[in-house]
Amino acid sequence: AAKAAGGGRWTWFDPIMDQIADHDAQLAADLRQAINRDELFLLYQPIVELPHGRLAGVEALVRWRHPEHGLVSPAEFIPLAERNGYIVELGRWVLEQAVHQASRWERGLGADAPAKISVNVSARQLGEPGFPSEVAALLSAAGLDPARLTIEVTETAVLSTGVALDAVRALAALGLTIALDDFGTGQSSLSLLVDCPVSWLKVDKSFVDGVTLDSPQAVIVDSLIGITEGLRMQAVAEGVETAEQAERLHRAGYRFAQGYHFARPMTDTDVELQIAAQFDRIPAHGLPN
Ligand code: C2E
Ligand code: MG
Ligand code: MG
Ligand code: MG
Repeated sequence: AAKAAGGGRWTWFDPIMDQIADHDAQLAADLRQAINRDELFLLYQPIVELPHGRLAGVEALVRWRHPEHGLVSPAEFIPLAERNGYIVELGRWVLEQAVHQASRWERGLGADAPAKISVNVSARQLGEPGFPSEVAALLSAAGLDPARLTIEVTETAVLSTGVALDAVRALAALGLTIALDDFGTGQSSLSLLVDCPVSWLKVDKSFVDGVTLDSPQAVIVDSLIGITEGLRMQAVAEGVETAEQAERLHRAGYRFAQGYHFARPMTDTDVELQIAAQFDRIPAHGLPN
């Protein structure tokens, strides 16, 4: 009795639902091979200082080049990996790559190296027993100062388990920077800012989008500056796409921003070219794309 009584209603046995499930299962199976087949790689998106756009750090963002489907968005495969638990292995790979890249930059570029590298970490990773000591071991093996590594977590991930909150505290105690990503879109609870050693508040793009308008989003963007200043945190505006937004955020008191207006996610080589260009000339309207 695939079709429930009531005629024509969709059920889980609907062929279209079946196709979606098959596609996801196939993609999940392919993803498990992606590391060994060298299909994953990282791009780095600059985080810049306002108003001039000087490089303050980079965020590592994973990409998957699928042999048949081409580039698959992390918005598609990260949730898949979170559901089947593969995110733990994938996340470990991302962390290793990012830490090694940061230490290569430190050795090769010295004082010109990006000051910080941010890595996104999911709830499942935070919940793995021993995750903080794994990170500590990775840093010491690479000879990287913990102050150079930022862990980006979401409100939802931190609030998911008590273990996750403990892990965040342990990471902060190691000297890492903790960033609260997509702030304002999760199971927001201001008590998280009390209980959790957060240094950066990454204000979600959905608020930044409305910042130049007479909008509730603009009011929230402005108010968050008071909170971050009072709590000695840094506010980082995400998804800045226009010069008007950048200017408005600067006037509101934002010191850091990230978005296509300044730079898109780019390869390690392109980051190096941007750094070289920066020391010749700092563009008035931020780094070129
Ligand atoms: P996120 O951590 O909030 O990263 C920011 C996303 O916004 C990135 O998308 C970036 O390319 C995009 N973005 C940046 N500036 C702009 C802009 O001005 N306009 C627009 N429209 N988009 C902008 P991306 O790389 O597709 O990643 C999506 C999400 O996937 C990330 O959101 C993060 O939650 C997750 N993700 C990516 N890499 C990893 C990873 O290595 N591990 C985990 N756990 N999650 C990851
Ligand atoms: Mg992030
Ligand atoms: Mg974000
Ligand atoms: Mg976001």
